[in-house]
Amino acid sequence: MSKFWSELAKSLEPYTPGEQPKDKKYIKLNTNENPYGPSSKVIEALKDGANDNLKLYPDPNGDELRKTIADYYGLKDEQVFLGNGSDEVLAFSFMAFFNPNEPILFPDITYSFYKVYSNIYNIPYEEVKLNKDFSVPINKLHHSKGGVILPNPNAPTGICLSLKSIEEILQFNKEKIVIIDEAYIDFGGNSAVGFIDQYPNLLVVQTLSKSRSLAGLRVGFALGHKDLISALNYVKNSINSYPLDRLALCGAVQAIKDEEYFQETKNKIIETREKVSQELKSMGFLVIPSLTNFIFMSHTKIHAKELLYSLRERGILVRHFNHARIDNHLRVTIGSEEEMNTFIRILREIVPV
Ligand SMILES: *Cc1c(COP(=O)(O)O)cnc(C)c1O
Repeated sequence: MSKFWSELAKSLEPYTPGEQPKDKKYIKLNTNENPYGPSSKVIEALKDGANDNLKLYPDPNGDELRKTIADYYGLKDEQVFLGNGSDEVLAFSFMAFFNPNEPILFPDITYSFYKVYSNIYNIPYEEVKLNKDFSVPINKLHHSKGGVILPNPNAPTGICLSLKSIEEILQFNKEKIVIIDEAYIDFGGNSAVGFIDQYPNLLVVQTLSKSRSLAGLRVGFALGHKDLISALNYVKNSINSYPLDRLALCGAVQAIKDEEYFQETKNKIIETREKVSQELKSMGFLVIPSLTNFIFMSHTKIHAKELLYSLRERGILVRHFNHARIDNHLRVTIGSEEEMNTFIRILREIVPV
């Protein structure tokens, strides 16, 4: 920090992403990336797109991709908004829907970017304390003053709410926006997309980073009433008219279209998750039932921090959060079967029996 920094820059507390180390080759189970590469059709589209047209600006509204996503979910094109990763969509949403002086609600244990956005956009917030078992106390999300945002399934707990609970949140916040961040919904949960026509206060945010294996392409989107999508476009067009580049647009279209590959890879991850969860339980781990591509676990005999370091020494990265209520837990991304076999084998060497 120096005198050159603005007051705003000085006041920020940025999000810390999971590390992407370059010192040696690790088994990366720390950032919820998909172990399987993107569909070969995506790669083909990217190669085709790498041509002279890159001298031209991309389609500012990404019409073809919006139409592809709208068709996939049975919505209209004007109900889809695209962003450079869902993080950008979320950031724009804070600007588009939340106000200073009207506190928004989100869980005390959740995606830590919400706090970062609240701070940068000067949105007050109240953290709703999760129950002891990390479930969301739905009744405490009623009648928010400024709106509600939460991931479903929640991160890093992996717990998924039923559609009944989501509808209850919508019902009790009809005057305010409810943002459901569905980054992990494809791994077994039920999407709230079906509520969009009924609830004009619902915004569903999704990403191609997890279930579509495209964290590196940076594509996210929001689904909601066309009035909400308009507000997002107002914000977008006041910051960056072209958040998605030409390659991202053409790759993403194929990622949505290749349903077979999507089903195959996400089912493999679900299968591996269930198998790994069973093995961990047999080793004395407490594993929260997950509907995501990660598991949240703890052990009574060995502290999470110690495990984190022991795993790292042996070439495996997992994620630990320095938050009082969860600092004895680890979040472990579901990798390939082979990676998870190695993970379990190495854990058996570390964990006391
Ligand atoms: C990964 C993640 C995102 C962001 O994904 P992008 O890569 O920016 O699309 C958003 N919300 C949650 C809860 C996530 O875990």
